[in-house]
Amino acid sequence: MMCAATAGYRGKRVLILDHAPKAGAKIRISGGGKCNFTNRQVSPENYHCQNVHFVKSALARYPSSNFIELVERHGIDYEEREHGQLFTLKGAGEITAMLRTECDWAGVEIKLNCAIEQVSYHANLAEETTSHYVLQTSQGVFTAPNLVVATGGLSFPKLKASPFGYRIAQQFSIPVTALKPGLVGLRINLPNWAELAGIALPATLACGDFKWTRNLLFTHTGISGPGVLLISNVWQLGSTLSINLLPHIDVKQEVLALKAQNKALHPWLRHQLPKRLADYYWQQHPLTGRPAELSDEALLAWATHFQRWPILPSGTDGYNKAEVTVGGIDTHAISSKTMEALNQPGLYFIGEVLDVTGDLGGYNFQWAWASGVACGIAVSS
Ligand SMILES: Cc1cc2nc3c(=O)[nH]c(=O)nc-3n(C[C@H](O)[C@H](O)[C@H](O)COP(=O)(O)OP(=O)(O)OC[C@H]3O[C@@H](n4cnc5c(N)ncnc54)[C@H](O)[C@@H]3O)c2cc1C
Repeated sequence: MMCAATAGYRGKRVLILDHAPKAGAKIRISGGGKCNFTNRQVSPENYHCQNVHFVKSALARYPSSNFIELVERHGIDYEEREHGQLFTLKGAGEITAMLRTECDWAGVEIKLNCAIEQVSYHANLAEETTSHYVLQTSQGVFTAPNLVVATGGLSFPKLKASPFGYRIAQQFSIPVTALKPGLVGLRINLPNWAELAGIALPATLACGDFKWTRNLLFTHTGISGPGVLLISNVWQLGSTLSINLLPHIDVKQEVLALKAQNKALHPWLRHQLPKRLADYYWQQHPLTGRPAELSDEALLAWATHFQRWPILPSGTDGYNKAEVTVGGIDTHAISSKTMEALNQPGLYFIGEVLDVTGDLGGYNFQWAWASGVACGIAVSS
């Protein structure tokens, strides 16, 4: 809709085809119904993409301040939450209504409940026509000189998410990178893990070069919460996470202080953490003997392990729960200025269908807006 309105305002004839009964279904349920529509601080570092420079141009040309200005112009009240995240106050429906209004003003036509059955490209047309793309749909045949694919990722299939965009790419020999659920909870297959369900606390999660300190939630099947969703974007099956359950405490210093005071470690841990969690950790990693009787090395080794508790997730909660799809159309095959496929004139890809995945915090919508505008400005005839 951002792309369509941008092109429509430039006087282009634009038709949106969507097989869903409502436009912008993911916007409506996003951000717990309040839509975290962008973030005050957006930088290329907030995105994961095999082609690290790809996002720079579109994000620079349509910064979050532009979208905030649009929201304000439509009289939508919003609030800023932690880490610069912006949410509507009255509900996500206001953002979809705003985009519908923009499309109306720009003369964009929207056809919903329209299943697209086949896309074909006809290079050699009679001179007077430029409509190379032919779409067979449940509502008839449509032809156009340009085709913009904005079909999103695979998450939330109940909202009509589909692999259609990836199939179009493959049809035109455009590579698609490996796909996996992102911004999603992780499964932990350890004995008695379910006993921890419901515990929430701030923690530092690390995976490779990535590290976030956010709330961590223990669930019956694994871990979730903002820190886990963030780490899930960079986690690969088979790799170990490390968790620091007391990120604001120097545990090494504390254990040496306990030794000096001849105080026991387990009660200290129960004082610092929810008791169920302290007991669980202690059962798995006990240190027998009073600190006064233990060597500094033994105490420091225990503290080091505690601050980097290694956990091997067995998988993710899958596309039914994931907010995004990591991976997508390989951006090496796409112009970062226009979003047009380098090998296929008039074929564009925008938003989540591309191999661009944002961190949690409004970054995925900001990418959808910015890439849509970049394309809407560029799309010809
Ligand atoms: C539960 C949830 C909460 C989220 N919350 C946030 C948030 O607060 N902030 C944030 O930044 N991001 C959030 N996201 C991510 C965000 O919704 C997406 O990144 C964003 O919507 C991507 O926009 P898009 O236009 O590329 O794709 P989508 O919004 O997914 O739109 C794709 C459209 O293509 C249509 N389509 C798909 N296949 C076909 C087909 N075969 N034929 C015709 N039409 C088709 C779909 O019906 C849909 O309307 C959330 C996602 C989920 C699932």
